[in-house]
Amino acid sequence: MTNIEWTARSLAHVWHPCTQMQDHAGGDAANIPLIPIAKAEGVWLEDYEGRRYLDGVSSWWTNIFGHRHPHIVASLKDQLDTLDHVIFAGFTHQPAVELAERLVKLAPPGLDRCFFADNGSAAVEVALKMSFHYWRNVGKPQKTRYIALTGGYHGETLGALAVGHTGLYRDTYASLLLQPIHVPSPDCYERPAGESWEDYTRRRFADMEAVLAQHAHEACAVILEPLVQCAGGMRMYHPIYLSMLREACDRHGVHLIADEIAVGFGRTGKMFACNWAPQKTGPNGITPDFMCLSKGITSGTLPLAVTLTRDAIYQAFYDEYRAGKAFLHSHSYTGNPLACRAALATLDVFEKQDWMARVRLLGQFLWSATASLRSHRYVAEVRQQGLILAVELARRPQTREAFPAAERRGLRAYRHALATHKDFGVLLRPLGDILYFMPPYVIEPREVEAMARIACEAIDYATQDD
Ligand code: PMP
Repeated sequence: MTNIEWTARSLAHVWHPCTQMQDHAGGDAANIPLIPIAKAEGVWLEDYEGRRYLDGVSSWWTNIFGHRHPHIVASLKDQLDTLDHVIFAGFTHQPAVELAERLVKLAPPGLDRCFFADNGSAAVEVALKMSFHYWRNVGKPQKTRYIALTGGYHGETLGALAVGHTGLYRDTYASLLLQPIHVPSPDCYERPAGESWEDYTRRRFADMEAVLAQHAHEACAVILEPLVQCAGGMRMYHPIYLSMLREACDRHGVHLIADEIAVGFGRTGKMFACNWAPQKTGPNGITPDFMCLSKGITSGTLPLAVTLTRDAIYQAFYDEYRAGKAFLHSHSYTGNPLACRAALATLDVFEKQDWMARVRLLGQFLWSATASLRSHRYVAEVRQQGLILAVELARRPQTREAFPAAERRGLRAYRHALATHKDFGVLLRPLGDILYFMPPYVIEPREVEAMARIACEAIDYATQDD
């Protein structure tokens, strides 16, 4: 079968996510060509005609150790020979037990309990429901609202969508959603010229403090993406926000939910982004009341998510059956043994070398390789945390005036990076006019350079005047 044949069959019956399907109409000439992938290895995807694509976004930020990592593949094959799946209510199994034990050791201290689900949005739903239910179980049923940041993204099921604030995904469904209290994000792209990230982030915290003071009596939890608001445009802020938020949540009696689904497992150069939060004394890091994990947890091999929480929260649900306090959230594939085994194998890979050092080093390569973009005529900002580097295109960088959205500049860059180079393409899936790199940690420095070079060409092409 050729690319064209697979594409035609796909378009006949498949409805793809995050896509206006008409953009795929017209084959190669489509706004967004649909690319059928036959196989993958490491950082490379390959289509049915042998063209290779460097996966610069780790397939929606999941494949931290690249595709088909040999140890993960071998572990999964072994698991398939013993236990595929079993109902997780009333039954347990080795992969889930071991995974919970290892995650608790790895997580910020005090997160002792793991609740399994099978995708990131579900992990967020679990945290939201658990927080609400906790307050109800301890006699505070009036705590029913959530506090979240503008520009946040937490998934697309209705609860997760409600606490997010990314218009593209949320606006259509607004009338169906819970009404959280949105607080202006500390997003440092918005800071005045000359102000440091830290000063701006500290200053922005005043809004959060005011909302907590006003709404703590009715609020269950604050939810946020630590350090990087990913789907909202890879907008970044200083970790001091996390330290200040932890202190304020404690003071006001409101839970803190850290959505580490995109940034967890080393992406920012520490195992969890919460680990960066500076402390006046002792080591850096905060412990949220709930931490949501998914994506990198299986290195992109199988769907899995975990919501970790504190023992004190668990204890508020632990009672006689007739007290009716149990947490009843359930998904059929909860704790799937294959997915848990893939996660265990991912943790094994973490233990084999100092990946955090590698992520930081690769981050430096990426920063150097994209140097020319920092003075590009149409680039308003290049920002970075660990192995996430984002390039914000703008018509007038000085005033931060964006290109008209209808011009779809980011999409032009996307197409160029995929198709123009004769030997291979680069998969960079921009968020509007924000191009970003979020490659697997196994990428080689020469591949970082190639990826950056092709991206720079694509940006030049996309920002040419018509
Ligand atoms: N939270 C964050 C921070 C995310 O980036 C995502 C996915 N992009 C989600 C939640 C939702 O995860 P999923 O797509 O697996 O539902």
